[in-house]
Amino acid sequence: MRRTGLPQSAARTAIVIGGSIGGLIAGLLLRRAGWQVSIYERSPVKLAGRGAGIVTHRELWDCLFAAGIDPSMEDGVLVDERVCLDIEGHEIERVAFPQIMQSWDRLFGLVREPWGEADYHMGRELVGIAQSDSSVTAQFADGSTASADLLVGADGFRSTVRQLVAPQIQPIYAGYVCWRGMVEEAELPPKAHDALFHLFGMCLPKGEQMVVYPVTGEGADTRPGHRRGNFVWYRPVEAERDLPDLLTDDAGHTHTLSIPPPLIRADHIARLRVDAQRLLAPQFAAWVEATKAPFLQPIYDFESERLGFGRVVLVGDAAFQARPHIGAGVTKAGQDAIALADALARHDSIGAALAAYEAERVPEGKRIVRRARYLGASITAALPREHVLTPDIDHSARAVLEETATLVF
Ligand SMILES: Cc1cc2nc3c(=O)[nH]c(=O)nc-3n(C[C@H](O)[C@H](O)[C@H](O)COP(=O)(O)OP(=O)(O)OC[C@H]3O[C@@H](n4cnc5c(N)ncnc54)[C@H](O)[C@@H]3O)c2cc1C
Repeated sequence: MRRTGLPQSAARTAIVIGGSIGGLIAGLLLRRAGWQVSIYERSPVKLAGRGAGIVTHRELWDCLFAAGIDPSMEDGVLVDERVCLDIEGHEIERVAFPQIMQSWDRLFGLVREPWGEADYHMGRELVGIAQSDSSVTAQFADGSTASADLLVGADGFRSTVRQLVAPQIQPIYAGYVCWRGMVEEAELPPKAHDALFHLFGMCLPKGEQMVVYPVTGEGADTRPGHRRGNFVWYRPVEAERDLPDLLTDDAGHTHTLSIPPPLIRADHIARLRVDAQRLLAPQFAAWVEATKAPFLQPIYDFESERLGFGRVVLVGDAAFQARPHIGAGVTKAGQDAIALADALARHDSIGAALAAYEAERVPEGKRIVRRARYLGASITAALPREHVLTPDIDHSARAVLEETATLVF
């Protein structure tokens, strides 16, 4: 466990832009170090259901513990093994790999709960930033402002904060998308449930990657029969024509970067279900079929050379976005927050603290982004689309099972 430092001055103030997991962990750590922290979240309604299932790592529990949260290790669904099936449904590889699976909602609830309503402002969208030698001021879409000693940009991969301080950094499309979905355990057909629900399961049609795993149910329910199954299916999508079509809703509007789940066209979801029957092992196709509302995330990533800009600092997905194959978005956000709180505790000047934070987290962010590119390299729009159905993947299946969603690399 790293030292996060004692309060240096009770008067130091911080504004956190983004009230999701990254912003809340950063806010909790700063608050524990004596800062007065206010969170500003664009969404006018409580955040929910985003990210569906989250694979966790020991390091995430360290971050939550440092932030003052004591999550019981039983709080989640423990999976002991990973398995890969060929497209006919036969097991081709199995490895022992104990890991705790969580739902995004549950993790969010853990870090949201310590905040009252007074310091967590909803419906406040940052649109501008002004800095002076002595303070930083956030300007919001409703015309209001807030000033503090430090502004933490925790506003996700499309970060407004980053666009204001480092507009040259833009997300890069990876050449593939990820379809995701959550299904109630009780609604999975028995054969698909019994084959996969207790496992981290994979199916690897050529140039694609399908992953399923269980997570907690409503209200962090871990009782058998009351949990949920999560699927994540990576599929290559050509960038110029096919991706814009996927992001175009029924009204003909093409969304940039991502499309809100309710606006995904029914014909795309219908095609997904047909492709599942055609390309995936039957046990996996059944998960897709049983999922009522699959949703879509185009995969992007980017690296940052700098994270500190005067009195403004970036954390979490705003700072670095890696492809999801390491399953480390939440953990990285927590580690950013610990490094930031630690640097601010060790240095009296914000400039020196942010330089120290940057020196630590830029190399780590790059390491994670590059590793995730390596893990995603087999999924690309450049591959032939005929999807050879012979499972000539025994060797790589083991590597994929062992290398996916682990921070050990
Ligand atoms: C759909 C989805 C699926 C994911 N799946 C996984 C997974 O399986 N495993 C994993 O480890 N991670 C996953 N992640 C990533 C993980 O949730 C994030 O890495 C983690 O929550 C840290 O993100 P963050 O807090 O930095 O950003 P985000 O979670 O993106 O939150 C940013 C917040 O900032 C707010 N915001 C944006 N702009 C403004 C503005 N101008 N003013 C005020 N507020 C603003 C947004 O409304 C949002 O609440 C997923 C994320 C999403 C969205």
